[in-house]
Amino acid sequence: MSLPSHLALLGMAGSLAVADRLLSGPGSSSSSSSKDKRQQQQQQHLPLAARTAGCKEVHGNKREQSPAEQLEDMRTTPIKCRDGTLVYPYSLPTRDDQLDRLKKESYDVLVIGGGCVGSGVALDAQVRGLKTAMVEADDFSAGTSGRSTKLIHGGIRYLETAFWKLDYGSFTLVQEALEERAHMLNAAPYMNSALPIMIPIYKWWEVPYFWAGAKAYDLVASRQKSVPSSHFMDADEALFQFPMLRGDGLKGAIIYYDGQMNDTRMGLTIALTAAQEGATIANRVEVISLLKDPQTGLVSGARVRDKVKGDDWEISAKVVVNATGVFADKIRKMDDPEAIELIEPAAGVHVMFPAHFSPAKMGLIVPKTTDGRVLFFLPWEGCTLAGTTDSHSNITMTPQPTAQEVNFIMQETNRYLTTNVTADDLIAAWSGLRPLVKDPEKIKEGTAALSRNHVIEVSDTGKLITVTGGKWTTYRRMAEDTVDRLLAEKPELLADGAVAPKASTWNMKLLGADRAGIVCDQKFNKIGITLRNDYELPEDVAMHLVKSYGTRALQVAELVRTGYTDVKAGTRMKRLHMRYPFLEAEVVFAVEQEYALKPMDILARRTRLAFLDTEATSTAIPRVVKLMGDLLGWSWRQRAAETAEAIAFLQTMNVDKTALLKSNKKKK
Ligand SMILES: Cc1cc2nc3c(=O)[nH]c(=O)nc-3n(C[C@H](O)[C@H](O)[C@H](O)COP(=O)(O)OP(=O)(O)OC[C@H]3O[C@@H](n4cnc5c(N)ncnc54)[C@H](O)[C@@H]3O)c2cc1C
Repeated sequence: MSLPSHLALLGMAGSLAVADRLLSGPGSSSSSSSKDKRQQQQQQHLPLAARTAGCKEVHGNKREQSPAEQLEDMRTTPIKCRDGTLVYPYSLPTRDDQLDRLKKESYDVLVIGGGCVGSGVALDAQVRGLKTAMVEADDFSAGTSGRSTKLIHGGIRYLETAFWKLDYGSFTLVQEALEERAHMLNAAPYMNSALPIMIPIYKWWEVPYFWAGAKAYDLVASRQKSVPSSHFMDADEALFQFPMLRGDGLKGAIIYYDGQMNDTRMGLTIALTAAQEGATIANRVEVISLLKDPQTGLVSGARVRDKVKGDDWEISAKVVVNATGVFADKIRKMDDPEAIELIEPAAGVHVMFPAHFSPAKMGLIVPKTTDGRVLFFLPWEGCTLAGTTDSHSNITMTPQPTAQEVNFIMQETNRYLTTNVTADDLIAAWSGLRPLVKDPEKIKEGTAALSRNHVIEVSDTGKLITVTGGKWTTYRRMAEDTVDRLLAEKPELLADGAVAPKASTWNMKLLGADRAGIVCDQKFNKIGITLRNDYELPEDVAMHLVKSYGTRALQVAELVRTGYTDVKAGTRMKRLHMRYPFLEAEVVFAVEQEYALKPMDILARRTRLAFLDTEATSTAIPRVVKLMGDLLGWSWRQRAAETAEAIAFLQTMNVDKTALLKSNKKKK
């Protein structure tokens, strides 16, 4: 890029001296050795694109740039943060580049499914040095991984089971998940954070019971302490912290801590980090059959279909991993039509209410609802999420909440709140399918019970590796176990010494935090301050961008500054809906940098508007279709089809309020 345009882009009119400082990094004029060291580290950790972007600035000629070159520069130009450190934007290969590779190259590992588990396996395998591809039939984390309660947790209730039933399996499950909780909080600290959760207590005898339970939970987590310790608070303090709580008869509350995330963005970030490490990943590419080596009969790849362009081709791989969650049996049967089914899907429903039903930073758990389940009531993305699990369901990509489940959640909630929630307060509802799984070894022994643990199966027929079950929080461990198993099955992959036998994802930072510790010294609030002061974004928008993108938030802010499609440079930032912090610029970023292909990829998963508020989403659809249509060159016919598809999806996140009211009346 030519120097003047670069400076214009950064909004730093200036001199070669400024450019020199940009290139050599902050503090280069001061001879601080620690800063020099940091700078060297920074350069070492840069993706190639960013390093070459630096070179371009020094040696670049000054001819006029084509729009494509300008875009490329925008993607790779270092952006300055408040403290003088630079964010080197990472630019992913385009989807077409990824498809091209998938068509031409063969792989060590092909992962089927781009939920948290598949993305985790792709990341682990690629980082160890295995040449890895991952294909996802829908969008990244569009399945169960985007429909969770968003808790990074060990499951405080399983601990109760562990103690009362002396169940060592449940204990290790909680212990493992609590260790992984520490990993998740560390891997993307801008996105995942600790959340205090209140257990309200209305009977004196419950105080020691829940206190002991919460302390045991702390103790089990103590090997990897990542959140504050639990504590008791009296009724006055509890009502101060949670003013919406019913106060009559309240004896006090136990506060314990877990982590909270934005599940689709976390899943996407894992997938994008795998791509950053060199894995080939593609959404909307579906496995339609498995390939088998005619000599050995072993699975040797898959036939796939690009659901956007409609073409089919074969991808060959030494090992195929089936990480398709509740769809795992379908893939297993492509290998062995006689395979006994392992998956028992269990639906969980969530309901969204406006923010004023919960404090901004305190959740509530009802450990035992009237039918013995757990109910969570949590602040999330500026709204209030209430949800419970599990009831039997059919397998589908878009499960729908029933009026009965939604009513149940509202009734249980109203037992604890001073202001009743009603059907009119409901702003969205969605359902997700948990892949509960039977252990194949136990099936052979005839003692199969459903397990909350994960299961890794290597098929007798084709050596297809299936990983399923478990929970979001343990995705990294599941991935590590899968790649360990894969290497045990195929030791020849380790033969030339280029592949690491052990995983190295435990301490790894994900995209957006990968150069944290260097950029802004891992203090993401400095990025927030930069967004507020230098880019003049409002606080809610700045906070949302930092929480969603980490250091990459500055790239989104740059889009606001430089303009896009029909929005000129210097125009004030535009929201997708006036009540929410999601920006039009995020639509552009999602298309250019995050493989968004459909309006709901953006409205439901890159941002979470559809999960928060269906009415607000329906008003945002036309503008999102317009922006995407302009960026992706959609015809008017395609724009109409995309609009219809988005509306149809939105209907699955809606509950018929008339049915709700009727069902409510019946209960009374
Ligand atoms: C209601 C609910 C709440 C939950 N809450 C929590 C929580 O708070 N914390 C927690 O830790 N866990 C939670 N869980 C569990 C957690 O969400 C799941 O264990 C996890 O998301 C499963 O991830 P996965 O990658 O195995 O499956 P998925 O996310 O479903 O991914 C599988 C992917 O495979 C793709 N696929 C299927 N067939 C093909 C094909 N032929 N070709 C290519 N791709 C294909 C699908 O499109 C899908 O995206 C919850 C689960 C539910 C149901």
